[in-house]
Amino acid sequence: MHDHPHPHDDGHHHHDNHFSPMEARVKALETILTGKGLIDPAAIDAIVETYETRIGPRNGARVVAKAWADPAFAAWLKADATAAVASLGYAGRQGEHMRAVFNTPETHNLVVCTLCSCYPWSVLGLPPVWYKAPAYRSRAVMDPRGVLAEFGVALPADRKIRVWDSTAELRYLVVPERPAGTEGLDETALAELVTRDAMIGTGLALSPEDRR
Ligand code: FE
Repeated sequence: MHDHPHPHDDGHHHHDNHFSPMEARVKALETILTGKGLIDPAAIDAIVETYETRIGPRNGARVVAKAWADPAFAAWLKADATAAVASLGYAGRQGEHMRAVFNTPETHNLVVCTLCSCYPWSVLGLPPVWYKAPAYRSRAVMDPRGVLAEFGVALPADRKIRVWDSTAELRYLVVPERPAGTEGLDETALAELVTRDAMIGTGLALSPEDRR
């Protein structure tokens, strides 16, 4: 059912209909601790949410902001993302290579792992639940424009969409277009505009007005 032509060296196996042994243990512990009143599932959800959307993707946001601010870094990122990202201290696991794909006025990039959930952990942290869901994995390829519309991203009709299928060996980071009106911002302020979804391609970078 869930064949794996590309090997996973990092043990992140997400099957559709059953838990991995680790997931099952975590689930069992959460159930017991909740039953005893020792933990609040809402608090656990909040912590996971923090790692998914706040702490993890901040690394990637710094990479993107540096690419926006520094053309030499952008060129390096385009030519050798693995090395450019590692230069900022965000090293992947052994054997994991990164490729940065840059949005342009002609082309929007969207990242998926059709087989499972390969994801650039070193720059984005934990993958969101929807990224691992069969619906996203299949529809991102068959109907990327429809998927983007559901995420609230309406692109011009003539904008090409390129879909990149991640593997355990090669993972993609989308570099969104730099928003207008950000000329005066430094890298720290620019990074605030770079959302996780923008780096997967299911979103765009925020404008300074969005941010406020
Ligand atoms: Fe995968």
